Amino acid sequence: EAASVEVGFDGDGRLADGRAFPLLANVGGAADAEAAAAAHAQGVGLFRTEFSFLDRAEAPTVAEQVSAYRGVLAAFPGRKVVARTLDAGSDKPLPFANDADEENPALGVRGLRIARRRPELLADQLAALATAGAAETANLEVMAPMIATVDEARAFAAQARAAGIDRVGVMIETPSAALMAKELLDVVDFVSLGTNDLAQYTLAADRLLSDLGELNDPWQPAVLRLISLVGDAGRSAGKDVGVCGEAGGDPALAPVLVGLGVTSLSMTSRALGRVAAALALVTEDDCRRAARAALGAATADGARVVVAEALG
Ligand code: PEP
Ligand code: MG
Repeated sequence: EAASVEVGFDGDGRLADGRAFPLLANVGGAADAEAAAAAHAQGVGLFRTEFSFLDRAEAPTVAEQVSAYRGVLAAFPGRKVVARTLDAGSDKPLPFANDADEENPALGVRGLRIARRRPELLADQLAALATAGAAETANLEVMAPMIATVDEARAFAAQARAAGIDRVGVMIETPSAALMAKELLDVVDFVSLGTNDLAQYTLAADRLLSDLGELNDPWQPAVLRLISLVGDAGRSAGKDVGVCGEAGGDPALAPVLVGLGVTSLSMTSRALGRVAAALALVTEDDCRRAARAALGAATADGARVVVAEALG
């Protein structure tokens, strides 16, 4: 019986050739953020703001939001914290934001799309985030979930900047957004790959159905090829491309993501040590080799095998 060993992380993500590589945490609220800081996360790559309000029948006030957001920012003084605006709907319905009768909620009015019907929810949230950001020393960045078009990203960026947010990004979690990464990066400061939804929408497989687990796999070559488009666009633009889906915590995939052009990984705090240990063994050249091997694979399992060979 294999003992599960927790590998520690000292807060300094690096490749074997010395290149610094930030390892960030996914958090849902202040308690999570404090645990992530204790685990030496270098910042927060995904603050799922909707987790603070899952049980609410009514929208939280701006003051309640400011207090919830300050709790997370306070755990990372002087560090980067990427807050995501409400990703309500589909697997994370919020009673005050979503229509319970939607027939296809994963394809429905979720994430940024809620602002079409309920613009005050986004306006209040951006105001609360800006106030919280001004009150704490953490470097707040704000991104929107479920972006499908450049128009959505442009409108979101304009509204967030007008509300006083300095660094604005979007999540890449639809195939459409991945294909348009270059144009998206013309209108935002950074992007972050939500590989859970990107796999769901690329393979057209409900992420909640465990029967479809082998389709909801970031090692699927179709998903890796989309990530590669985004990485290339990020390199050309000189802008950050994060990963904040579960793929970010897979130590075997980490070198591939780095080689594809990803510039930071965000994960559950428990994965930080394992991912740091995997990256400490590989150079940037190794990562590019692993990425090329993965992009040539025909299947997810095939990608795992050729990457292990490329790095072995
Ligand atoms: C994702 O889709 O990969 C992601 C990070 O967002 P969530 O899992 O919260 O939908
Ligand atoms: Mg998502």
